[in-house]
This record gives sequence, C-alpha cells and structure tokens, in this order.
Amino acid sequence: TRPPHQPIRRICCIGAGYVGVPSSAVIASKCPDIDVTVVDISAAKVAAWNSDRHPLYEPGLSELISQTRGVNLHFSCDMIGPLEGADLVFICVNTPTKAYGLGQGKAADLTTLEAAARHIVRTASQPKIVVEKSTVPVRAAESICTILRANERPGVRHTVLSNPEFLAEGSAVQDLLRPDRVLIGGERTDEGQEAVQRLVSVYARWVPKERLVTMNLWSSELSKLVANAMLAQRISSINAASAICEATGADVSEVALAVGADSRIGPRFLCASLGFGGSCFQKDVLNFGVPCLNLPEVARYWESVVTLNQYQKYRFADKIIVDLFNTVKGKRIAVLGFAFKKDTGDTRESPAIDVCRRLIDEGALLRVYDPKVASSQIRLDLNQPEPDEASDAAVLTVRLLSCEGAHAVVICTEWSEFSQLDFGRIFASMAKPAFVFDGRNVLDHEALLRIGFRVRAVGKRLDC
Ligand code: NAD
Repeated sequence: TRPPHQPIRRICCIGAGYVGVPSSAVIASKCPDIDVTVVDISAAKVAAWNSDRHPLYEPGLSELISQTRGVNLHFSCDMIGPLEGADLVFICVNTPTKAYGLGQGKAADLTTLEAAARHIVRTASQPKIVVEKSTVPVRAAESICTILRANERPGVRHTVLSNPEFLAEGSAVQDLLRPDRVLIGGERTDEGQEAVQRLVSVYARWVPKERLVTMNLWSSELSKLVANAMLAQRISSINAASAICEATGADVSEVALAVGADSRIGPRFLCASLGFGGSCFQKDVLNFGVPCLNLPEVARYWESVVTLNQYQKYRFADKIIVDLFNTVKGKRIAVLGFAFKKDTGDTRESPAIDVCRRLIDEGALLRVYDPKVASSQIRLDLNQPEPDEASDAAVLTVRLLSCEGAHAVVICTEWSEFSQLDFGRIFASMAKPAFVFDGRNVLDHEALLRIGFRVRAVGKRLDC
C-alpha cells in the first residue's frame, strides 16, 4: 500500500483579485487547519483587503473574510515569507489580452504568469506544488515547467498542476462553495499524480467526490477555454437571433423559451442583450486562435463569436441614435448600469463602455449611474475629465436623478433595482418624447408603454 499523502498545511495565493481572494477565503473557511496567505504586488490592494473597505464587491465575500481574516486567512505584500513557507502556491494573476503582430489576432498576455513563475523559483528553497489557476492558453504549464526546471536549486523539484477556476463574478462565493466541477490536471508521473491527490484532498473537504475531476494538464487547461468560449458562443448565438427577431417581428424571449425547452439545449444563458463583457469571455475565445497553433479556420470560427458581440454593441448604440431622430448631439441620455453584469462592480470590457463612447462621440451628454461602480471609474473608462461646471461636456453622476431632463434612459446592466424604479415619476421629469432602451430586457415593457414611453428592447418590436 502507498503511504498516505502529506496533507497541505500552508497555501500561498499569488494575486489578490476576483479569483485569488474568493478562492482563498473559501479554502480558509472550509479548511481551518490550512493557513492561506494571499500576496499581491499592489500594496494598495493588500491594504484594502486588510481594511473594511474591500477593493471589489462580491456577494457574501466580506462575511467570509470577516470570519477568517487574521485566523487562517492573511493578506500580505511580503512576496517572500508566505511563499517560502507554503506547500502549495496558487497562481491567480491577471492574464489580459495581447495583440500578436499585424492581423494575427490576440491571445492572453502571459507576462504576469511568467513573472510569478520566476518569482516562485527564485524564492523557494523547498519543493512546491505550483497550481495554475489563472486562465491560460493550452500548454502554458509547459512554459511554467520550463522556467522552473531551468532555475531550480539543486535537489528542489517543483510540480505544476492546472486547476482552472470556473467561478463567475457576482456569484463567486456560491460557485466556489458548490462548484459544478473542479478540474485538476497533472503530469502522469508519480510526482504529478501525488500532487494531484494532495490538491484533491483540499477540495474533498467540501466538494463531492464525483465533482472532483482529474485529467491531464492540457485537457484541464483547454477545458476552461472551451467552456468559456461555448458560453460566449451561446450569447452571440442568441444575440444573432435577436437581430433576426427585430427584422422580422419575432420576439427573442419567446424564441429563447421555445429553444431552451429542448433538453439538449437547456434554458440558461439564452438572454439576448447588448452584448457580453467582462475580462474573460473575449480573451478566452481569442485564445483558441493562438497564432502559434496555425489553425486559421478554427481561429476564424471562434473569432466570429467576438465579431458578432462587437456588432451587437454597435447595433444597440446605433439604434439609440437612429431612434432619437438620427442625432443625439446635445441630448441628455441617462445610462443605468455600467458594470459588465449585475452583482459586480467590475467594468472590464463592459459593453456599456462601447455604447457610451459611441454616444459621446456623437455629442450626447451622458449621465451614468451604477450602484457598485464609482464615478471616478466610469470617467476613467470613458476617458472623461473631471466635470467642469462651466463646460457642457458629458456629465457623469452617480445620482439616480440622472434621468431628469433626459431624452432617453438606457439600461446597460441588469441590476434588479432598475425594475423597481418609479418610471411614472421618471417619465414626468424627462424630455418628450421619452425613450427607454432596455439593453437587458429586464423592464416591464408593457407598463412602460402604458406610461407613455417609447420603448426599445433587444430582439423585440414593441411600439415601432
Ligand atoms: P485581477 O486583475 O482581479 O487580479 C489579479 C491580481 O494579480 C491583481 O491584483 C494583480 O495586482 C496581481 N498580480 C499581477 N502580477 C502579479 C505578480 N507577479 N505577483 C503578485 N501579484 C500579481 O484578475 P482576476 O479577475 O482575479 O483573474 C485572474 C485570472 O483568473 C485570469 O487569468 C482570469 O482570466 C482568470 N479567471 C477570472 C475569472 C473572473 O471572473 N474574474 C473567473 C475565472 C478565471
């Protein structure tokens, strides 16, 4: 019989972001005997996690942190001590998109991943299990291994695992507590398989056995990309259908209901909208087109998912301009919602950014409200200077009164609070005719029509 695996006692997580912190907080709460330290190069972020003003909003996260911080969960700028003491290191750094050469597409920028790998091998005097949790192109683990092997100290051999994260922002804590599956990919060597089992025994504390799936490294890396690409493709598919609905008089909600009733398809992720956003979908779809794979047809196939998404955003913005009598110059437009989806304050690649920029370029005066996005972030994303009282430049405000005097209300994020608004009062305060452009199909369109609004939604003809 094989000796029992050494239990994991200390974990260091590199990257205190949307993935690193919720994952670490959940492990700390479920494994009181494991000490977890999250490190980050951003001292400001670490200080914020150590305060009561956390740098990002995620339902349930603050509660978890208040239970575990200072007990077995720590946030630190010390990039050396926690790493040296750890048995296992999660790499949770950001992997943004990078353009490769002229016309050769885009893929993940692995600068941060390489920096983390070099830092680990420089610092560690004991063998570590190095776990790739960031989303990476297939075979990134090979690059990490190569960097580690070339720099390891004599007698110290690290092991690399792939354990991609599937959480969704806005439900990260719940997704981590009750994952559909946890993938762990490792090399087929004895050390590789031993490392897999040691990580399995961490998750096994709260994840049912049948949801812990082990596989080879490349399958694990690729599965994450395929999952995100198929989710993005589903959104682009229903959005493509929404354009056909608008052109023909079909209603995309009815179509989605009928299509989703097919048990082979299922009802989820079939909401037509102004387009998908977030830091992952576009990047992960484009990662299929990694230039070095030399699979141009495959790359083109997936790129069309992104192209359709761009088209959907511009189609929505153009509809606003055309319906406001072909000009928005000097017109006030209230934009409700700026985060890329509800229950997060994250604006990375939010479709609201493209829509707002298009309207600003056409001379509209915007007022943007989002319950979880600071006005400074909105200004930054829209390249807008601080408001100047004397100038009539696009004004951004976080007040809900942003609808006053507006020609149109535009819903860009599906925050639940928007359907509770008193649209009768809003209508009374707006310029006439008053328009609502519902980019998420979340409002009661019939009720809005009764109030007197002209209503436009995605994939539906209402009062045209
Ligand atoms: P993030 O930007 O929120 O956090 C990454 C953190 O890493 C930042 O705080 C950054 O300062 C830090 N960092 C960068 N380089 C570092 C280094 N060398 N040493 C220490 N810290 C460093 O990013 P995120 O949203 O948490 O995403 C992380 C990875 O997980 C990405 O690859 C992403 O694609 C993937 N992912 C994200 C989500 C999501 O919903 N955000 C879901 C699943 C997977």
